[in-house]
Amino acid sequence: MLTISDECIGCTKCVKVCPFGALFMEGKVAKVNESCTLCGACLQSCSVNAIDIPRTIGTVDISAYKGVWVFIELLDAKDGKKQIRPIGHELLSAGKGLAAELKEELCAVLIGHHVSGMIDKLASYGADKVYLVENEMLQDYNTDSFSAVMCALVSQYKPSMVLYPSTYVGRDLAPRVATELFTGLTADCTGLSIKNGHLLQTRPAFGGNIMANILCPEKRPQMATIRPNVMKKNPPVAGAKAVIVTVNIPIDKSIIRVKTVKKLIDESHGIEKIDEAKVIVSGGRGMKDRNGFKLLEELADELNGAVGASRAAIDMGLKPKPHQVGQSGTTVSPTLYIACGISGAIQHLVGMESSDIVIAINKNPDASIFNVAKYGIIGDAHAIVPRLTEALKNRKKA
Ligand SMILES: Cc1cc2nc3c(=O)[nH]c(=O)nc-3n(C[C@H](O)[C@H](O)[C@H](O)COP(=O)(O)OP(=O)(O)OC[C@H]3O[C@@H](n4cnc5c(N)ncnc54)[C@H](O)[C@@H]3O)c2cc1C
Repeated sequence: MLTISDECIGCTKCVKVCPFGALFMEGKVAKVNESCTLCGACLQSCSVNAIDIPRTIGTVDISAYKGVWVFIELLDAKDGKKQIRPIGHELLSAGKGLAAELKEELCAVLIGHHVSGMIDKLASYGADKVYLVENEMLQDYNTDSFSAVMCALVSQYKPSMVLYPSTYVGRDLAPRVATELFTGLTADCTGLSIKNGHLLQTRPAFGGNIMANILCPEKRPQMATIRPNVMKKNPPVAGAKAVIVTVNIPIDKSIIRVKTVKKLIDESHGIEKIDEAKVIVSGGRGMKDRNGFKLLEELADELNGAVGASRAAIDMGLKPKPHQVGQSGTTVSPTLYIACGISGAIQHLVGMESSDIVIAINKNPDASIFNVAKYGIIGDAHAIVPRLTEALKNRKKA
């Protein structure tokens, strides 16, 4: 049970921020009633730390928790409008299988401002139900407001599991929610399945040397962040409809500690581009030095793609770690993957073999990368890559 100590100064902030109307004023102090779900939304509003939620390390009634939830991350499109980040489709596809096995509903959680137009798309990706929270203060992602909303939703509707993308946003939000709700979280999963009714979460551990299988048998919801490009997408179902649950969650401005002052679109070959890029030009030890990678960047620019790298190239300092493709880096699934001076070690292949078309350039005709390549070019990448770039430039001029 939530407690309010004598420190309460009667400021009424907690009363205003409570999504469930569980806090009220009695004289000059705040009191709590039985509608409290222990969501924790009031904690940050209290400037004198008079509110406390006792955390007990024990089991919860897990039978009260039902439904597979997917947190839907939104991106700013070039036209300034919001769009669903592609991993949302992957997570709903993965969630559909889990929900079917558990005979539970698959639900999407859509948080933002003027975002209801995306509901049909979420239904076409498999969502049976969409929890919609709209508020002008939720226009852009913010740790404080989004975690308060997620905690309130979870406390009220009690899902058995919540899946988040393993992106900057998902990795920021999920631990915050897990801490507030006092439940477990497995980060960076590459596999999900059901074991004895629980979510079995698989992720590489110890630098990718072992795969760890993790269960959260005593707490709910079970929560995981999932790497982009590892879950197979189901084809969208045209005309599918979802039940819409619109939830009004008041947000207290005072809990928001970070303000978006200006948005800048990163045009560099950054991590966000790697995991969603349609074209990746990737380099390995065979590219030798930064000048070698410059050639790859020029080709990537012509193809409007991103630059990836093998771990050997990362270790040589030719690209920052976020560009690493492979088992201990990022899993990618572009339409076109051009591997230059990469031998094709298994740890690299697992991170890119689901690419639609692989082109390999390597001077060794026996390099393993040719086994997964649709087109192979045997020769010096330093000579071949600039010729490809030149040919593309000439084609554009013609
Ligand atoms: C636990 C663990 C996790 C790992 N995780 C990853 C991971 O996530 N990603 C990853 O990539 N690796 C990973 N590795 C490392 C992996 O095993 C390989 O060592 C690494 O992928 C090799 O990188 P490479 O192909 O660039 O280098 P190399 O194996 O040295 O190959 C260089 C290639 O370049 C070719 N070459 C040389 N000069 C030229 C030229 N001028 N033109 C064309 N071709 C040329 C050579 O013929 C050769 O095939 C991991 C290893 C372990 C043990």
